Amino acid sequence: MSDDFHDPASISTGRLPREELVAQLMQDAYDRYAGVDDGAVADYIPALAAADPALFGLSIVSVTGASHSVGDALHEFSIQSVSKAFVFALVCDALGPEAVLRQVGVNNTGLPFNSVMALELNGGSPMNPLVNAGALATTSLVPGATAQDKWTFVQTGLSAFAGRPLSLDDDVYASEAAHNRRNQAIARLLESYGRIAHDPLETTDVYTRQCSLLVSATDLAVMGATLADGGVNPVTGERVVDPSVCRYVLAALATSGLYERSGEWLFSIGLPGKSGVSGGIVTVAPGKGSLSTFSPRLDAAGNSVRGGLATRYLSGALGLNLFASRPE
Ligand code: GLN
Repeated sequence: MSDDFHDPASISTGRLPREELVAQLMQDAYDRYAGVDDGAVADYIPALAAADPALFGLSIVSVTGASHSVGDALHEFSIQSVSKAFVFALVCDALGPEAVLRQVGVNNTGLPFNSVMALELNGGSPMNPLVNAGALATTSLVPGATAQDKWTFVQTGLSAFAGRPLSLDDDVYASEAAHNRRNQAIARLLESYGRIAHDPLETTDVYTRQCSLLVSATDLAVMGATLADGGVNPVTGERVVDPSVCRYVLAALATSGLYERSGEWLFSIGLPGKSGVSGGIVTVAPGKGSLSTFSPRLDAAGNSVRGGLATRYLSGALGLNLFASRPE
């Protein structure tokens, strides 16, 4: 493997650079941004406000299963909105992407993740699976007649992406369940427009559980690497979703994975990604692997500040940007 891949102009084909270089660049990224203390920890769910703002972890997993981690990469946190990408993948796999496209959509709202206005402005269309309205609509489509069946499907499916059984953070779940009137209202509004496929309050409860699953940055990188690897978990070898599902999910992440900052993210990083309010971000380089970051301080849109900086640096240094080319 040549060092050419270290060139920020490397095109997005081939593989990750050799392991020593990946390890060195991961450490560089950590050292560069560990001291940044811009942004604030999310506090609209009381249990999230208790997060230690100093935490910072980075993890990368290649489609070969090789991995490198730096900092607090094994620290567990609630997955929050990053779950939306993987539940969307499971539902696309179960129902077919066309059905989900019709019911949920894949266009950016340009509005915050928990916007009620976005639903009203779009005639009740949830718009995309990565804002709360679309995530609730997607969770309502999860196979299973009862909320318990749906929850079992979600927990089993996300665990298959991670390659290990994921468990619930009971405190985060209880805290969010006591403070999710807004999500319940969004689910009710979806119901009024005929856009939710299951009882709105039960759907909100399953969604709240999926957001409360505990993961580490390393888990997220394995989950992302499964999307980078045509739906096969590169660590366990298990096929989790069909290869076509990965293509569709990554396209949806490119348009909306970083909420109303998705355009700026794609402009500077050039990769599909998904963030969550507890401070996780998963980024996927198709055919190569997945980089994930964890740091709880967020910008105004709810995206991890250090995570964005480290991902931008590593996308360039590792030659991951999907839009990069050089003249022949
Ligand atoms: N569970 C959170 C909510 O619905 C997830 C939001 C997020 O991570 N952006 O408000």
